[in-house]
Amino acid sequence: MSQVTNQSSTETMAQFDRYVIANYRRYPVCLVRGEGSWIWDAEGRRYLDFFPGWGCNIIGHCPPRVVEAVREQVGLLIHVPNTWYIEAQGQFAQMLSERSFGGQCFFCNSGAEANEAAIKLARAHGHASGRSNIITVEHGFHGRTYAALSATAQPKYHVGFEPMVPGFVYAPHNDLTAMERLIDDKTAAVLIEPIQGEGGINLPAPGYLERLRELCTERGALLILDEVQTGLGRTGEWFAYQHYGIEPDILTCAKALAGGVAAGVMIASRTVAATLKPGMHASTFGGNPLACRAGIATIETVEADGLIERGKAVGERFRGHFERIRSERPDLVKEIRIMGVMIGLELTIDASVVVSECLIKGLLINATHGTVIRLLPALNIADEQIDEGCEILLDVIRSLPRGD
Ligand SMILES: *Cc1c(COP(=O)(O)O)cnc(C)c1O
Repeated sequence: MSQVTNQSSTETMAQFDRYVIANYRRYPVCLVRGEGSWIWDAEGRRYLDFFPGWGCNIIGHCPPRVVEAVREQVGLLIHVPNTWYIEAQGQFAQMLSERSFGGQCFFCNSGAEANEAAIKLARAHGHASGRSNIITVEHGFHGRTYAALSATAQPKYHVGFEPMVPGFVYAPHNDLTAMERLIDDKTAAVLIEPIQGEGGINLPAPGYLERLRELCTERGALLILDEVQTGLGRTGEWFAYQHYGIEPDILTCAKALAGGVAAGVMIASRTVAATLKPGMHASTFGGNPLACRAGIATIETVEADGLIERGKAVGERFRGHFERIRSERPDLVKEIRIMGVMIGLELTIDASVVVSECLIKGLLINATHGTVIRLLPALNIADEQIDEGCEILLDVIRSLPRGD
């Protein structure tokens, strides 16, 4: 066995203090094992997980088919680079293409990388016609690498890291008038999350994405959808755009893509994808056998277990609980925003106190954008688990002081 001992959470925290860069705020818990929507810490305490893996573990912790596929693959080939053909990568690409808009895939390892690829492709595609600007939307989130960060129209993430990459133009969210004004003959692409995740589970206004698609087409700009968080069944369709009867030119996906194994993908329509020639872009680990086997097993699980449909029911069950707390505490609950297992509960007060109280009571949740409780539960969470966790969550909210 390699060196994994069973040290206490306290010992692990001390080790982090000394050897790991402190760029994250971490809860004082060391997690060691998970199964479905349950997870255990080093002291053997069990938690219910309404935010498994920050949305990556879309079919729960250690989904059996993914575990099996990776176990088998790891004994065959762990990694071979993209100078060779890998059967699993081709199969995974076909599965993604057939479940989206028939495009072609470029694989990488994260959301930021997928967006970097999309930004580079859009610029390369627009290069001959002098189109280099990328329009993005306020409160959006696209990742932490330089171009993805520059695309992220939230000044708080830029502070101290300037200068940003030039050529990004920011529009207010859900504002078609601004898009009408901004999309011009210098625009390579509009890059947008169909539903904003980190920005607080913000849904598109009725007709917004449909008209944005038209505007891009009319004016010769590409439409890039960042489905890093919304993709792979999160919203009640394979991809969120499928709710709106439109198609993007480029789509990015990561988080849930391989059921918790690191993977990212850019899918581009065949005509746009043709811009990328050998040597123009690459990722050493992208599309490696382990990630692709995990991705295939994730899609197979979602389909075999009917989890796209299940995700819709899960969302509605959460909605029922949230309606209850809204009628009890209208002073605290501002808005409920749910699409499948993409779940936002906007409070009138800071939501971070709710997170720490829930942790004490054995429930893992997330707060984002100050006032929004964000839940990205697994598609296969059980009704009893939803009810149990919601009782904890609602109890914590009930005990809060009066809001506005
Ligand atoms: C998480 C996220 C990213 C960044 O993904 P990483 O894997 O952390 O690089 C980009 N876009 C959206 C919409 C995300 O939610």
